This record gives sequence, structure tokens and C-alpha cells, in this order.
Amino acid sequence: MIDFYQVLIPFDVEEYISVKAVPNDAKDAYSRHAFNQVSSDALPVNREVPDSRNEGCHAKRYDVSRLPVTSVIITFHNEARSTLLRTVVSVLSRSPPELIQEIILVDDCSDDPLDGETIATIPKVKLLRNPRREGLIRSRVRGADAAEAGILTFLDSHCEANIGWLQPLLARVSQEPQVVVSPIIDVINSSTFKYFSAMEDLRGGFSWSLTFKWEHISSHVKAERTDATEPIKTPMIAGGLFVIDKIWFNKLGKYDTQMEIWGGENFDLSFRVWQCGGKLEIIPCSRVGHVFRKKHPYTFPEGNANTYMRNIRRVAEVWMDEYKQYFYEARPKAKKRSFGDISQRLQLRESLQCQPFKWYLENIYPELKLPNNGAMQYGHLQQGSVCLGSPVSPATLFAWEPNIAPCSSSEKVQTWTFPKEETLQQQSMCLTASSSIPGTPVYLTECLDKDVKQRWTRWGSTGFKHVLSGLCLDNQKTNRGIVISPCNDKEPSQLWEFKLLVN
Ligand code: UDP
Ligand code: MN
Repeated sequence: MIDFYQVLIPFDVEEYISVKAVPNDAKDAYSRHAFNQVSSDALPVNREVPDSRNEGCHAKRYDVSRLPVTSVIITFHNEARSTLLRTVVSVLSRSPPELIQEIILVDDCSDDPLDGETIATIPKVKLLRNPRREGLIRSRVRGADAAEAGILTFLDSHCEANIGWLQPLLARVSQEPQVVVSPIIDVINSSTFKYFSAMEDLRGGFSWSLTFKWEHISSHVKAERTDATEPIKTPMIAGGLFVIDKIWFNKLGKYDTQMEIWGGENFDLSFRVWQCGGKLEIIPCSRVGHVFRKKHPYTFPEGNANTYMRNIRRVAEVWMDEYKQYFYEARPKAKKRSFGDISQRLQLRESLQCQPFKWYLENIYPELKLPNNGAMQYGHLQQGSVCLGSPVSPATLFAWEPNIAPCSSSEKVQTWTFPKEETLQQQSMCLTASSSIPGTPVYLTECLDKDVKQRWTRWGSTGFKHVLSGLCLDNQKTNRGIVISPCNDKEPSQLWEFKLLVN
């Protein structure tokens, strides 16, 4: 082992790691990194890991001389020295040397510049240091811009590359440059640092709140797969570990550099790749361990939830078209979060002529069903060519007078939901009539749980009946605006079509 250190690591490993040593106390061991630093520090930097690949992978041969060279990019902010070093050492010792152009460490303004400077004395390791905290998104872009090789390999700063991890990734990308690939991400336990093999039938998915999740590949996909070593198409990647052709990465618009610190960038990249003509795959014959942890050990200048909300809102606004409303439904607080200027990202989408989100849902992720099995539907309340809407700038915050205007599918103020066929709703505002007297005007007020003044049902095929009064929604041209009046299916001003915007 000493020999190995001397060849590869031109400094005293024990000393390097011990600078940041924590007391051998179970609680303190987690304080700096949200994983057990004592366990990590105690392991050799070149420890063996179990070969977790499928049996079928052992027989595969790759002609290294025909594979492209890659630059490995690792960004880090206050990473533990032992995990960072183990990441670098595992890459150097488990990859064919001729395939590693360089390892670019991007030190995202860690407290101690020596963390990175010391490791950068290892051959092939280069260091960039951000003078201020940029977050992982801009840090990765900085690393990518500096990369000399044609293929970019991104890793987190607490990984361990497994045996033969690199060849299958590079082989796939060189075969089809618009495919973005991830290894199977094995689990390094954050308390014991034991290395566990991850299941091989998982892929990345998400829910409407735009929260990433691992899911088993669906049974029909499974049935189609005759060979467990073949790539697995995935709607989403976890985001930290992947390989992409540099020209394709640049053409696709790198990352959205107005995203902050952490989070959402995997959604942005995954939607972009699929919607703009690429593919995302998990390559089962490539395995890399990652320390999964329950929380972030580092600071978020604007708070964790706020940052995620801003980042993910940018994604929803740029990529999800009308389906973003399901996201807002699942995360009402996101609506209140500012998300900056997205015009350049919209322009990018336009210039790459990317597919609509509907296409992505239908072709790439049909398993993601609409909420409530589609009971939550978005539509226009339409009467001939005009639509019911809410004012763009309401006179008061509490009660808005609805209005009538020519229908326009781009008008958000004309988009209604009719959940459970009970409330006519725009986000958290509900159509309300507060008495049973014919001619009572209808307002939009904050939705209240089970308030009968806000309950509506369908009346016949074209009317909406107010449950409290038994009267119908009416666009009588009185100076009272929209009112309720006795139901009459011959009355054109009571005919409303709930015209779905998505299905
Ligand atoms: N990171 C960074 N700057 C930041 C936040 C994170 O460079 O402001 C790095 C971090 O050190 C890690 C990677 O980005 O290498 C991903 O972060 P993390 O591991 O916390 O995310 P997770 O794997 O938990 O999703
Ligand atoms: Mn990580």
C-alpha cells in the first residue's frame, strides 16, 4: 500500500486527512459532512470495493485504443478530505490511464484552500478554485469549459469508481454522441462506509412536485429486456454522476447558470436531453459508489427550500408548458418564489426546436400519470369565443371580480381547474357566491375547505350550478358582472363549456 501512495500520491496521506480529523465521537463525526467522517477517515484511500457488476459484464471486452479520452470533473464545497481523495484515487486506479485526460477539481470556495491544493499535486489532477461560492451548477460549467478532452465525466466529490466503470460509459457515448449516460450508482453507507451494490432494475423518475425518485423499471420494459447488461432508458438522471459528449453538452446549453447552489439541474438537463433530441441511459456494466446522505451539510445562502424552489421553477417554466400547473398544484408555495429571467433558456429551447413536454410525457415517461388520475384537469370556461377569467391586476387581494375576454390559450388568467367536480378554481382562488339571491355577483376568493359557497356541480351538459343556492353561473350582461340566476338550459348566457387544455 505504501508503494501505491508513493507512486500516486506525493504527500503524506495520514497527515493530509488528519488535519481535519474530528474527535472519535459518534455525534461529532457527522457535524461537518452529514456522514460519519470517522468511518471514512479510517479507511484506506485505495480500499477494495466489491465488484458489483452483473455476471454478464465480465465477458464484455472494450478496445481501449478506440475509446475516446475523458476529462473527469469533480466540484466540491467543504468535502471531507478522505472522501475527496478516495474519489480521485479510485478514478485513477480503476480506469485505463490512457482514457483519463485529466481530473479537474473545482473547489467551490471551500473554507480551506489546501483541501484541493494538496490533492492537485497528484499527477493529472488540476485545480480551479472559485473566489466566491457559485454552487454546483456554475462550478460544473466552469470545469466543463476548462476540460481538454472531448468527453466530460461528472462525479460527486464522495464517490468510488468500481472496477471497469469507465469503458462501458465511454463506449456508449462514442457510439452515439447524443446519448447521455450514467453508471448504476452503488450505495456507500453514510454511517459505516460499507459499499453496497444497488439493484440493477432501477431508473430515475419523479413526481409532480418535481422530486427525484428511483423506481423499478416497469414490467413491460423488463419483459422487453433480454439482456441485463443492455442500457436502461431513464426519464431522469440522479444528476451527480454522468458522462456527456462535450460538443453535445455545449450545444444543449450546458446548464442553466442562473440556478443556485444545488438542485433541479438534473431535471433541467434530463428534460433538455430528451426534448431536444438526445437520450438518457443507465449503463448497467458501469458501477460507481456514492455516499447518499439525509441532508446537506453546507449552507444555502437563501435557504434550502427557497433555492430548490427557485431552481425547479425555472425548469417548470422553461420546459413543462401547460403541465407546469400540475407542479404548482403539488407545490403551491413555489408560485410565490421569484425565479429570475428565463428568456435566454426559452430562446435556447426555441433555437434547438425541442419537443413539447406533452411529447416527453407520452413517449419517455408515460408512467407519470396526471394527478388524481386526471380528475384534476385544466381547462377554459368557455362561452362561444369568450372565456371566463380573473383580472391580471385584481383591485383587492381578497376578492377578485372575474371577467370575460376573448379566449386565448396563452392566458394563464383563463385557466381553471374543476377538482372532484366541486370547486371552480384558479390555483388557490375559488369561484364564490355568498348568498342564495338571484343576481348575486360571483367573486374569486381564497379557497376554504368545504365551504358550500364555493361548491359548484355540473348542471346538464353545459351549465354550472352553485350548490348553496341551486342557481346557475350566468354571464348576464348586467352591470353586476358574472352572477348566479335561476337555471335555464335555454339561456345562452348560462352555457359554459369546460374545455380541457391538456388530456
Ligand atoms: N457542491 C458544490 N457547491 C455547492 C454545493 C455542492 O460544489 O454549493 C458539490 C458537492 O460537494 C458535491 C456535489 O456538488 O460534490 C453534489 O452535492 P451533494 O453531494 O451535496 O448532492 P447530493 O448527492 O446529496 O444530491
Ligand atoms: Mn453527493
